[in-house]
Amino acid sequence: MSAHAHAFAPPAAGPDGLTDLVGLSLAELTEAVLALGEPRFRATQLWHWIYHRGATDFAAMTTLSKGFRAKLAERFLVGRPQVSTHQLSSDGTRKWLLRFADGNEAECVFIPEEDRGTLCVSSQVGCTLTCRFCHTGTQRLVRNLSPAEIVGQILLARDTLGEWPSPKEGRLLTNIVMMGMGEPLYNYENVAAALRLVTDPNGISLSKRRITLSTAGVVPAMRRCGEELGVNLAVSLHATNDAVRDEIVPLNRKYPIAELLQACRDYPGVHNARRITFEYVMLKDVNDSDAEAHALADLLADIPAKINLIPFNPWPGSPYLCSEPERIERFSDILFERGFSAPVRRPRGRDIQAACGQLKSASERKRKSEREAAPAA
Ligand code: SAH
Repeated sequence: MSAHAHAFAPPAAGPDGLTDLVGLSLAELTEAVLALGEPRFRATQLWHWIYHRGATDFAAMTTLSKGFRAKLAERFLVGRPQVSTHQLSSDGTRKWLLRFADGNEAECVFIPEEDRGTLCVSSQVGCTLTCRFCHTGTQRLVRNLSPAEIVGQILLARDTLGEWPSPKEGRLLTNIVMMGMGEPLYNYENVAAALRLVTDPNGISLSKRRITLSTAGVVPAMRRCGEELGVNLAVSLHATNDAVRDEIVPLNRKYPIAELLQACRDYPGVHNARRITFEYVMLKDVNDSDAEAHALADLLADIPAKINLIPFNPWPGSPYLCSEPERIERFSDILFERGFSAPVRRPRGRDIQAACGQLKSASERKRKSEREAAPAA
């Protein structure tokens, strides 16, 4: 997987020759500070400015000497992804289309609720998984996002929400879900590095209990995720038998349901207080019968689980329909009667194509038109 990550890694230094300090671990930042001939504790101060105060301009870092600030500005920058577009839904959901240094784009969504504010973060530009019901799945993977590009989504949301310095109480951005574009466990190293930055107590300081990583079921990476990151796990199950799941989540052909559920039982730290979330997209006449609700309850009988029923969000040309509201309600009721919490996820930001499975950036379109342009040239 790390080979994967490196193969798609963006250049470390930007076109202006400056290296971004965002995304470096404290150890790496310390190395950079020592190389400038400054004492070690300056790295901690710098860290505080970047991740606690949200500063992007060295000149504003007034606890650092003028000389040090000048040396930093010669070689480094504190970067942010560029915002291509920023849309606000009628329900308060925000969606950013972000543009990275090499021109690739990915989306990021903020969902405010009464008791929380959740940022849905992307891990890749595009996705390799080709789930049939997912819009991102129709976009070829362009590349993995770097730690800076992943943590940059959170920094940028914080900029917009005006949440600097990192508040201890009354935060707007309280939760992170790795449920944007891409499969986070196919970009494990970079996602892990970014989440370590986000949870660091001297910076953004978000509890790992408030972070959920969603996977379509990359079985070999699941244990590591639990052991090393200890974040909540969500699994995109979506079907109760291999025939249907093979069809709608092709990754199932590699890691079928039985193996996936065993990895869930083995997920480190899983117990009743910390259940695994199983996501189940409601597709009309595909996976939404009473029999399937019962089959789902049978499958999850011995796993500390909660189920999230997601009404299918259509996108232009999508090959499925959303189950009728009464069907979804009945499905949810059966699961409830069988002892599961199975709320229906209220779609958010549908009017700005920000809902689950609707994210797609133009990065592929550009490549396609380039390919199409080539033979004519
Ligand atoms: N690759 C990871 C992270 C993406 S999370 C994963 O598969 O879990 C995005 C969630 O939205 C997944 O559960 C995905 O299956 C679901 N989803 C995708 N397309 C959807 C759509 N059109 N309507 C509703 N949910 C969708």
